[in-house]
Amino acid sequence: MFKKILIANRGEIALRVMRACRDIGIHTVAVHSTVDADSMHVRLADESVCIGGPLSKDSYLNVPSIITAATITNSDAIHPGVGFLSENAEFAEIVRDHNLVFIGPSPQHITDMGDKVKAKKIATKLGISVVPGSDGGVSSLSEAQSIARNIGYPILIKATSGGGGRGMKIVQNESELAEAIQMAKSEAEASFGNSEVYIEKYLSHPKHIEIQVIADNFGNVIHLGERDCSLQRRHQKIFEESPSPVITPDQRAELGKLAANSIKQLGYRGVGTIEFLYSDGHFYFIEMNTRLQVEHPITEQITGIDIVQEQIKIAADDKLSFSQQDVKFSGHAIECRINAEDPDTFSPSPGLVSSYHTPGGPGVRIDSHLYSGYKIPSYYDSLAAKLIIYEVNRKRCLARLKRALSEYVISGVKTIIPLHLRIIDNPEVISGQYDITTLERMTTA
Ligand code: ADP
Repeated sequence: MFKKILIANRGEIALRVMRACRDIGIHTVAVHSTVDADSMHVRLADESVCIGGPLSKDSYLNVPSIITAATITNSDAIHPGVGFLSENAEFAEIVRDHNLVFIGPSPQHITDMGDKVKAKKIATKLGISVVPGSDGGVSSLSEAQSIARNIGYPILIKATSGGGGRGMKIVQNESELAEAIQMAKSEAEASFGNSEVYIEKYLSHPKHIEIQVIADNFGNVIHLGERDCSLQRRHQKIFEESPSPVITPDQRAELGKLAANSIKQLGYRGVGTIEFLYSDGHFYFIEMNTRLQVEHPITEQITGIDIVQEQIKIAADDKLSFSQQDVKFSGHAIECRINAEDPDTFSPSPGLVSSYHTPGGPGVRIDSHLYSGYKIPSYYDSLAAKLIIYEVNRKRCLARLKRALSEYVISGVKTIIPLHLRIIDNPEVISGQYDITTLERMTTA
């Protein structure tokens, strides 16, 4: 097992990884930018190294600085967390070239799945249904027109290297197509350094259902069930639950088996998430994330498995210590992402957290780096806390969530707690029959 792990990240996820390390006796090294010197992840780590200025490119994306920090602290491995360098195959390779372990899958798997067109091709080969659309990148308007006519409007233009819900354009009819393609291409180039776009049928009221998988180096693969992440703002998740209120045990077992078998055939190792859109009783693959997901805690709550510890153990070449039969799903878990944002406009609200009080009691878990007196910097994403609620069933889980949300005090900055309170009063959410458009309809009503 590793003696020391450097965590190449910040915020709540850096703390989450650090806690997993500490629980199994691994020393931790935090890296931080100059504005993050007073951050909780720096305070709680065994050691810390300043790796650059506030801009992500100067610090959390600064590969030479991170590798140097790992070398001078004698770290054995680097955990990339989520975001930043977590899906950067070149970084994974550089880490390996410096005789350090990258806690994640092979660079090849990161590359393959990071290209969403390639990922869809791989999924198709493995017998997984994908959302109907172009076979690859779309190069000309006439090609786009003919594909769109074939699958029928509305369609969605997506960036091949896209992520974070950015770079998608819904096109309702042919008259909008030319301009939308142009815009999507230039946005994709600006955001991802790759202008290639592809086309998918725009499914109008699907659910976002994803399956968590874990694979070791010895061919053992298991799935940990699904998460329903359909409540999204601007294609970004803000409320997730497991199990999904609409998935039956048979569907779970079938989809889980499909996901686990596919991972096995790919020779993938580590943790990963296969994402589907669920519409009219069918599951359509959209992408695979080759890293830990922000919403992993809800799966931990209902399975009792510490996904981050498993991820670390697998990277250290340990065998999975349990089989699919050992995995038992029990109870219900919901995660609310508490972003420091205006709850109506979603514009970021950085600044001083003047007072901070967390809810407590049974079944309440908070993954957060906030503290009273902490200044949320404006340079990074707005995720301030994750409130994770566990109860024996969904109805009681929603009631406990309401109680916990109303106890949570974060003063000085705006947060989306008021929006979460509205979400859990929404009839579609209460019934479980919500989809990816529910939140948008709620916030524009
Ligand atoms: P990203 O990698 O940017 O997160 P995804 O492909 O995972 O992009 O899609 C993010 C979200 O966008 C999905 O959860 C869904 O809400 C929406 N979306 C993606 N593809 C489609 C589609 N073909 N039809 C309708 N909505 C879609």
